[in-house]
Amino acid sequence: SGIGSNLDGPVERVRVALSGLAELPQTRLIASSSLYLNPPMGPAEQPDYVNAVALLLTRLSARELLVYLQAQELSQGREKEPGPRWGPRRIDLDILTYGDRRIDEPDLVIPHPGISERNFVLFPLIEICPHLSIPGRGSVSRLAADIDGTALEKMTAVAQDR
Ligand code: AMP
Repeated sequence: SGIGSNLDGPVERVRVALSGLAELPQTRLIASSSLYLNPPMGPAEQPDYVNAVALLLTRLSARELLVYLQAQELSQGREKEPGPRWGPRRIDLDILTYGDRRIDEPDLVIPHPGISERNFVLFPLIEICPHLSIPGRGSVSRLAADIDGTALEKMTAVAQDR
């Protein structure tokens, strides 16, 4: 699962999202990455994002998981009406991959389409599962080799507590 926030205390929001993932039914939170500070994609006049990824072991179907992630977004106060594309958001939770499954439905695409270009997804993924293979795209390590990660800043415990 991918997590991102750039509004209203993003570090805390990402932490809350991670504890929400840990409490999902029929699911275990196996690992979570560091938090990464990341300049915004899309409109530049918005705060930096905080991103992280988590590895889940779950009996939920991908669609059930999506429903839970959306409930978590709403419970953290995300507006239901979509704002501008790539505009600021309080919390964004995505399913990045689901085992080796491929799903291509109007409201659920897995692997998540942005995965192979997004440094803020690939670099955190390498941290927790370097050998992860993205169906149809190759391993995260190989994908990350083609991507510039210099703008990403891994947050230290101290920075996260500021
Ligand atoms: P976003 O603004 O990124 O949260 O996009 C929300 C929409 O993306 C939701 O309506 C989902 O149905 C759709 N969506 C499609 N594929 C995925 C995915 N793999 N994970 C999360 N949302 C997805």
